[in-house]
Amino acid sequence: MQHFSLHTHTIGFDGQNTVEEMVQQAQKLRWSKIGIANHFIVHPELKNAVFYTYACKGHYQNIYSETFEEAINKFVPLFQEIKRVEQKTRFPIYKGMEVDFFDTPEWEKGFYQAIRQLKPDYLIGSAHLVAYRGRLLNTHDMKKASVAEQTEILKIYWKNVRAAIEFGQFDFMAHLDLPAKVGLGYEKKWEKEEEETVAFLSACGGKTEVNTSALAKREEAYPSQRILKLLAKYQVPVLLSDDAHSVAQMGRHYKKAAELVKNAGITHTVYPVTIAQHLTQRIYTDWRFKRVR
Ligand SMILES: [Zn+2]
Ligand SMILES: [Zn+2]
Repeated sequence: MQHFSLHTHTIGFDGQNTVEEMVQQAQKLRWSKIGIANHFIVHPELKNAVFYTYACKGHYQNIYSETFEEAINKFVPLFQEIKRVEQKTRFPIYKGMEVDFFDTPEWEKGFYQAIRQLKPDYLIGSAHLVAYRGRLLNTHDMKKASVAEQTEILKIYWKNVRAAIEFGQFDFMAHLDLPAKVGLGYEKKWEKEEEETVAFLSACGGKTEVNTSALAKREEAYPSQRILKLLAKYQVPVLLSDDAHSVAQMGRHYKKAAELVKNAGITHTVYPVTIAQHLTQRIYTDWRFKRVR
């Protein structure tokens, strides 16, 4: 059983609890460590997107930034707070970021500047958004599209995931089949994209998470059992993530997820110490070597 999570969110972004409250819960659960990885989503068109209005209504618009400066200004106080809580509690806290990758030279340049300034301990790669016909879509927008459009959007989604893997700077990839959140991508025909992606992840030496948030609603995690079997086949290391947005969600469904992982035949697991050391060497000394693998 895994006694930590590296994928948690806190107040000020889209989480409901403070860093200190998350650490108190981690201690109650007898965890060995915790990683806080709030959203780092930077794109100049974000505030024109349909989902931004919903984010404002739900008061989580702070996860979106139109400029890197805006995003950095949110992470600086967060990382200071993490340091303060770590000194006060003497509990190991890792500074993470759940980064949305965008495949443009401007984004890459801004990303490296931000990382050199913020010096996170680890990075989670993700692809929550798809640019489609001049608009940015989230999973709920994907759900509302026509069936023909959904097929095109899903193809772009999987391409984006592979681009994020190729970028090579993420310690592990988040929720590989995120569109499953809105019931998309289950058909057998998607297995080809899934296998291509998992094979590529393996070839790049990448890792991924088994996100247990899905288990509140269904019998499978993100990724699905079909993808877990592919991860076993290609020997991709995995770790469990609760994607906790509140203390009540910390460590959720870990037992069930461990069973799913075992049933799929996965034997490789990841530990955060190696993640942090790997990243420290990679980005802060050789940050210009983008596609190192
Ligand atoms: Zn996510
Ligand atoms: Zn998350």
